[in-house]
Amino acid sequence: MPELPPSDTSDATTTHTKPSDSPGSDTQAGGTKTPATASTGLETLSADATGAEAWAALGAAGLLTRAYQGGEIRDGIDPGGLADLLAASDSRCSIPATLSASVQLATALPLLATGTGPAVERTLRRVLTGRATLALAATDTTAGTDLTALRTEVVLDDGSLTVSGGKEWIANTTTAEAFLVLARHRPGRHFTNFSWILVPADAPGVTTRPAPSTLYASSGVGHVTFDAVRLDRAHIVGRVGLGLPLFARHIAVERLAGALWGVALCRRVLEATRHHLAERAHGDVTLWHLPHIRQRFASCLVRVQELQSLADRFGPDVAQRHDPRAAATLKAAAGTTVPYVLGECAHLWGAAGFTDGGIQEIRAQAALFGIGGGATEIVLETLADSAGQILEELARPTLQPEWPSGFRVPAGAR
Ligand SMILES: Cc1cc2nc3c(=O)[nH]c(=O)nc-3n(C[C@H](O)[C@H](O)[C@H](O)COP(=O)(O)OP(=O)(O)OC[C@H]3O[C@@H](n4cnc5c(N)ncnc54)[C@H](O)[C@@H]3O)c2cc1C
Repeated sequence: MPELPPSDTSDATTTHTKPSDSPGSDTQAGGTKTPATASTGLETLSADATGAEAWAALGAAGLLTRAYQGGEIRDGIDPGGLADLLAASDSRCSIPATLSASVQLATALPLLATGTGPAVERTLRRVLTGRATLALAATDTTAGTDLTALRTEVVLDDGSLTVSGGKEWIANTTTAEAFLVLARHRPGRHFTNFSWILVPADAPGVTTRPAPSTLYASSGVGHVTFDAVRLDRAHIVGRVGLGLPLFARHIAVERLAGALWGVALCRRVLEATRHHLAERAHGDVTLWHLPHIRQRFASCLVRVQELQSLADRFGPDVAQRHDPRAAATLKAAAGTTVPYVLGECAHLWGAAGFTDGGIQEIRAQAALFGIGGGATEIVLETLADSAGQILEELARPTLQPEWPSGFRVPAGAR
């Protein structure tokens, strides 16, 4: 497998530097990219850097381990560090490039770290230092929302295993040095029928192709086929039969990552949109002065603050306990808030939103917040299952410690 391509530094001095001086002049990527600060490791990247290039830059700067407690992946996620990395990537890179990083940081790497042995340790080391990327291959050729119907199978014998099947729409496929593959070792839907296998991309029988998606090409998204790929049993990650419990545990962190990234993305787009509106002349004033536009914008501010509050409230539950209900809440909120805010902003940009690389493109990419890693409908089902518990919790006062001691929520308002 070839080394990852180096970061593109060819136009490092010309990107992301322009303050807008005329209405609509900052439409590139929603006009929203800000110069990276000194510590992101991404300063030299061009705006169209691929996910693999961004990953290599973060790794070379030694920043990837900041997503984990004390820099140690097996000690769990550090939500603050993860949020910083995602915000840094979002401020500098495209949505596909940040997706590429998010899947690896939040889910693929922590899942891989549940394994042991030389193959696992080597891949962990190479990916955490940005010298390689790792793909998380759960979605099968069957409906992604019907995970237990997946067909990719692993046949286990005493000394080896054989993987056969295929995965579709997997980020990092075209660059990955290895695939973490969810496969069934037994027929049927029972939750103990699945296991994770680490499949090197250069193993005989592995074939990849890019997905037909201009919108997400730079995430390396693609399809992969496993044609009787034979490996030794050291490539089983976690224990046989623990595939789905491990997936549930670690997809929870991807849901937290989605909420944290969603806040950063919405903030960035809202800031650029406000700037655009304030510069767009309308009559004697600007678009920003029109009450209907201000109110529409303010509604977006409310939604983003709601998402941020949920991330603040539920982040620790996900990071420390992989709480599925907290994760579902975050995913459902991000999956509706991000498309809403970006849709509103895109509309307010008028024709300028359709500039190449502009807000309408970002809006289309951000629709993935409601689909990737589990469609919104699926997590809403999880929440409906917990309706009684949630309603019970809502009946309890949620006074914050810093509120004045004399203040009480009126009983009727609870
Ligand atoms: C750019 C990109 C990157 C991706 N990266 C990865 C990756 O790295 N790893 C990976 O494993 N997967 C990845 N995926 C796949 C992603 O996780 C799936 O797209 C997602 O799980 C949904 O599955 P699906 O697309 O097969 O939708 P389907 O299962 O075909 O569902 C289509 C739609 O039907 C509706 N629906 C489905 N089930 C229900 C239900 N029970 N109730 C109500 N409505 C329902 C929903 O609206 C849903 O969006 C990626 C996808 C994209 C586009």
